[in-house]
Amino acid sequence: MSEADAGAGATPHWRVGIIGAGPGGLGLAIRLVQSGRRDFVLFEASDGVGGTWRWNTYPGAACDVPSHLYSYSFALKADWSKTYANQPEILEYFEECADRYGIRPHLRPHTRIRTATWDDMAHRWHLVDAGGGHFSCDVLVSAIGTFTTPSYPDIAGLGDFAGPSFHSARWEHEHDLAGKRVAVIGTGASAAQIIPELAKIAEQVDVYQRTPQWILPRSDKPFSDEDKQRFARSKRAAKKHRNEIYWAFENTIAFRYEDGAADGLKALALGHIDYRIKDAELKAKLTPDYPFGCKRTLICSDFYKALLRDDVELVTDGIKGVTKGGVVTVDGTGRPADVIVLATGFKATEYLEGIEVVGRGGRRLHDDWATAQVAHAYKGLTVSGYPNFFMMYGPNTNQGGNSIIIILEAQATYIMSALSAMRRHRARAVDVRREVMDAYNKELVKALDGTLWHDGCQSYFKNAAGKIATQLPQTSRWYADQTKRFKMKEYERV
Ligand code: NAP
Repeated sequence: MSEADAGAGATPHWRVGIIGAGPGGLGLAIRLVQSGRRDFVLFEASDGVGGTWRWNTYPGAACDVPSHLYSYSFALKADWSKTYANQPEILEYFEECADRYGIRPHLRPHTRIRTATWDDMAHRWHLVDAGGGHFSCDVLVSAIGTFTTPSYPDIAGLGDFAGPSFHSARWEHEHDLAGKRVAVIGTGASAAQIIPELAKIAEQVDVYQRTPQWILPRSDKPFSDEDKQRFARSKRAAKKHRNEIYWAFENTIAFRYEDGAADGLKALALGHIDYRIKDAELKAKLTPDYPFGCKRTLICSDFYKALLRDDVELVTDGIKGVTKGGVVTVDGTGRPADVIVLATGFKATEYLEGIEVVGRGGRRLHDDWATAQVAHAYKGLTVSGYPNFFMMYGPNTNQGGNSIIIILEAQATYIMSALSAMRRHRARAVDVRREVMDAYNKELVKALDGTLWHDGCQSYFKNAAGKIATQLPQTSRWYADQTKRFKMKEYERV
């Protein structure tokens, strides 16, 4: 029964409920429509599709994966304006996909799912949203993303600051920053994009860096009309271009000590610093002392340039606190600020933050993960004890090198294969066998050992227990192979 079929007062029910209309959830919705399945809903907390590209509207927001690869393989876009598109163009792309594939009627915006409870008797998920609305579905997919919940720093006095202070992912556009003194806390991927743009308008930008980043230069060029026409005329040319980027990215994954790939990239990053920064003191402040690849590498050409401006200061003394009028560092120096931007990242390892998932016999997913000291799943997709529940961009599926779209498409393929297998086998509910999940995770832990992510740095890859919860230590091709077919024998029918 779909929502339309539900009688007055009945709980709306669908075959498939997807939480999150970002690139993952939207991509799965399109695959469902393409296969003729229309009995599904796309719950979305915000007012529309796009996920991270809807939330992150900060100045300079862009993707550091080339756009022809950061788009669905089945919905190539011929007229990307430049190599690395900015956020408005990426959001527009996902909006267009929602229209083109008829996803809007399935979208339920302003619906933030808070609890999902498996009903052992009825073989379905009961969902409750933040407004108290009740829904149900046979199969539940969480596609809420990894960089979803902003991480706010615990800095003394931050609440006393007199001016606006906001997180990079919740940009408050109502403040005119022209002529203002802006403090930016953090120097990750978001900050590196924000700072060059802020520098153009603010009177002064103070950049508070806790840890320097390894940064590779980015060559961003507009596509010529000729290029765009060529891609529009020939799908083959567009696919060829995409494949070339795919293989370039697939080949430059550097996460193991022994593969040596990191050495070449590290040399490139050091050359980048040398080329841009001539001042020895500034160079020392910007040169990381941890292995290349330990944290997520930034791909950005204008961050160093921005730091060379007279109206931009890199501050590396730790932050002692914030006062009404600015930021004070541990050496006692106070720097006045009108606005504070918290580019302090996300709670990436805290999967399904804000959603309570209750499985078979009343078990709680967050309790299971707390016991194991790390969020885990079979192939990042399914968890034993939680039937008919799939995650997109779940634990250990953040593939360090290639486009996340490749991973999300692989996960959509797996879920589509599961739906077909369930229909074929007349299985109402499937639950991954514990031994299958455990064996996968044992191999995962082995593969994670010996990666550069373990040593020498703090990063959002690691949770509070020091376990790597986000990263996939294999190639995207390996993962696509792993997920191309759902195998019923790996699942218990419940
Ligand atoms: P991030 O990489 O986690 O960086 C957060 C920054 O804030 C770091 O510099 C961190 O310092 C600093 N920080 C955190 N808490 C702090 C505190 N209490 N005091 C001082 N500094 C503090 O977050 P992000 O820049 O938002 O990027 C997150 C991820 O989003 C990226 O890695 C990427 O996957 C994605 N992203 C992608 C793009 C893209 O182009 N595709 C663009 C933006 C974001 P430490 O390094 O010392 O922890």
